[in-house]
Amino acid sequence: MIEKDRSLIRARIIAEHKESYILRNESSEFSAKITGKMMFAASSREDYPAVGDWVLITPLDKEKAVIHEILPRKTVLKRKSAGKTDVQIIASNIDVAFIVQSPDRDYSLNRFERYFSLAESGGIKPAVVLNKIDLIDDSDLEWRISEIKDRFKGTDIYTTSTLTGKGMADLRKNIKKGLTYCFLGSSGVGKSSLINTLIGKNLIKTGEISFQTNRGRHITTHRQLFILENGGLLIDNPGMREIGLLDSKTGIKSVFSEIQGLSKHCRFSDCTHTHEPGCAVLKAVRSGDLDKSQYKNYIKLAKENEFNTMTRLEKREKDRNFGKFIKKAKKQIKKYES
Ligand code: GDP
Ligand code: ZN
Repeated sequence: MIEKDRSLIRARIIAEHKESYILRNESSEFSAKITGKMMFAASSREDYPAVGDWVLITPLDKEKAVIHEILPRKTVLKRKSAGKTDVQIIASNIDVAFIVQSPDRDYSLNRFERYFSLAESGGIKPAVVLNKIDLIDDSDLEWRISEIKDRFKGTDIYTTSTLTGKGMADLRKNIKKGLTYCFLGSSGVGKSSLINTLIGKNLIKTGEISFQTNRGRHITTHRQLFILENGGLLIDNPGMREIGLLDSKTGIKSVFSEIQGLSKHCRFSDCTHTHEPGCAVLKAVRSGDLDKSQYKNYIKLAKENEFNTMTRLEKREKDRNFGKFIKKAKKQIKKYES
């Protein structure tokens, strides 16, 4: 029995590399591979180690080890790749996911909700971080907090500014020794800034681990699990960042299906639901059938999406057309004035 073998020790995966994993226990860091037996028994991606996993290993020397077994995962952050049945495990054994949004990005309660269900479906407790509060005034902040409290009862809410440092002590205080955390949210909301502030160094950019492969080559890889001064643990890896990107792409269709349904009744098939006559969406907003803030969110997201998917040529074309439009408008104004 493997469990009774005294040479087996527990370690945690802190980074994933193409051909191996980086592990850590109280005293050392190892580069490790899984056993042939484990590879042979693996039937899906879930059977391979992920960052955050606790595993049983046998050290080969001071730097290298072999992974025998993945200990049962308490929680998993996973993602289904679009159109595939295979589930990708992004990280495991995360206790709390901080869902970050900032007022200057694609802020919405629906977005919080999507991240909440992503976390909760893997057994992870979500908490809200409202970052960049230096950009809004107190009454705006109060309003947002009460809005979040109303919709997500009992959720922990942290309000932070990495710029002024406000709220950082409170966030830090609530990070507990031995628990594992991650930050999720759209790109640009300040996740790296928050993590770097908590770690106290610019580790995200510079935290590279150098280790030797079996062939003797030296490889550097990015650390994906960080230990904070108070003993709290933090996971940040590219998979988590991708969740944010996917979220902004698929969000429009999934959450605003109501608007999609209404748009079938618009007079024009290419209706943008902003000014067109016979627009069923605008009609619903006016009559109160459709929530105004949901509508605003939709328009904002739709615009962002449109601009993001435009090629550079299209963007230039748009700018040029706008230039022409301005010129024409100026001419017309002159005509009226003269
Ligand atoms: P990430 O993509 O979520 O990792 O976001 P970053 O940490 O890279 O931050 C995106 C931008 O927001 C950067 O220009 C940061 O300097 C800025 N930023 C981060 N936190 C704050 C904040 O609390 N207040 C303000 N005003 N800007 C911030
Ligand atoms: Zn319309």
